[in-house]
Amino acid sequence: ISSVELTREFLDRIKAEDKQYNSFITVTEDQALADAKTADEQRAAGKASVWTGVPFAHKDIFCTNGVATTAGSKMLANFVPPYDATVTANFRAAGAVCLGKTNMDEFAMGSSNESSFFGPVTNPWGLSSGDKRVPGGSSGGSAAAIAARLVPAATATDTGGSIRQPAALCGITGLKPTYGRVSRYGMIAFASSLDQGGTMARTAEDNALMLNVMAGFDRKDSTSVDRAVPDYTASLNEPLKGLRVGLPKEYFSDQLSPAMEQQVRNAVKEYEKLGATVKEVSLPHAKLAIAAYYVIAPAEASANLSRFDGVRYGYRCENPQDLNDLYTRTRAEGFGDEVKRRILVGTYALSAGYFDAYYLKAQKVRRLIQQDFINAFKEVDVLMSPVSPSPAFVQGANTNDPVAMYLEDIFTIAVNLAGVPAMSVPAGFVDGLPVGLQIIGNYFEEARLLNAAHQFQ
Ligand code: GLN
Repeated sequence: ISSVELTREFLDRIKAEDKQYNSFITVTEDQALADAKTADEQRAAGKASVWTGVPFAHKDIFCTNGVATTAGSKMLANFVPPYDATVTANFRAAGAVCLGKTNMDEFAMGSSNESSFFGPVTNPWGLSSGDKRVPGGSSGGSAAAIAARLVPAATATDTGGSIRQPAALCGITGLKPTYGRVSRYGMIAFASSLDQGGTMARTAEDNALMLNVMAGFDRKDSTSVDRAVPDYTASLNEPLKGLRVGLPKEYFSDQLSPAMEQQVRNAVKEYEKLGATVKEVSLPHAKLAIAAYYVIAPAEASANLSRFDGVRYGYRCENPQDLNDLYTRTRAEGFGDEVKRRILVGTYALSAGYFDAYYLKAQKVRRLIQQDFINAFKEVDVLMSPVSPSPAFVQGANTNDPVAMYLEDIFTIAVNLAGVPAMSVPAGFVDGLPVGLQIIGNYFEEARLLNAAHQFQ
């Protein structure tokens, strides 16, 4: 099959089916077909790499030169970046064909994809029984599009679970790499010390192929790590005999329903059959992760989002009376409720008199959480746990209760605070809805995670 035929096939599927999911914000049909044609020519000339002509999509948080990049916000609804993110440039150089930009929670804030200015995304799972369920968030568009077979792979970002939780809720495979492994340059900033680009696809193998393109040092990102990039597909078939698996006891608590727990324990049993040894470990500070994250992430967001002032880019209010009016109305009209809530919380936490009590305290907790992981990885090679406390919930169920929404992140967020890599791998069903197994690794052990996930699939 030629790349043009393949690209056409996926574009047709998007056209026919995405009305019910709303997983794409922008579809770049003409550009995709032109790129596919170039790819076919390269292939004919014997100049193809594995990615040449392969369709994929970008989360709408990665800047794409000449193509609208909205971060799911009214503030950037008309923003067309004049440059590519490093991740975008890498896929372009590899010859991949971008079909468009996927929907997401506004500025990646959310766990249900209901905070997007472009409307909620609907999970393909559960739809046939008449329920409109959330795909998870914030990378819900990427996850739903892959689950609905509208695209074989998509980029995503994970600041506090936004790759793993939607991957779990949509029954696909996702990887959040070690902080610093994938460049943040041109990725619209939410919480810079946590933001990390990563991969989503159906299988671990496809995730490995994506990470091969995305990972690497970038001098344009000051927290990018200068470290050799292995071929992530090379160790997929290593046997798992002797793999030491730790089950963090804090992640098997009463927050987890017996049905969810059963699926995770079944998956762990499969690993034992594959030769892994399993023991209980402890992450004693994990219970503080949500509280620390929801101080640190909003604090950084309040600083990052101060650039949206109606002057340089994005939305500008009509007829401002003076500079103050310009700032105030632009931000009041351009940001949605969840983003405003984060800016207010973050500004408060950073203000004089409260900085020590909230922000500094949260940073100290973060350090303790990091130490928990370092200690655990002295005893085991990987940790396994649930990804989310429940399968996909019905749209609207948590929209009026921000704290209930934040609790969706209970098993995913400590990983971000520590900066370690983690995956979500499909691991069965509860009530007919997909459930994920979280596999967490030590710093830069993405290859080990991909190997473990591949052997399970
Ligand atoms: N639920 C997290 C939040 O709302 C998700 C953040 C993310 O990973 N982008 O902050």
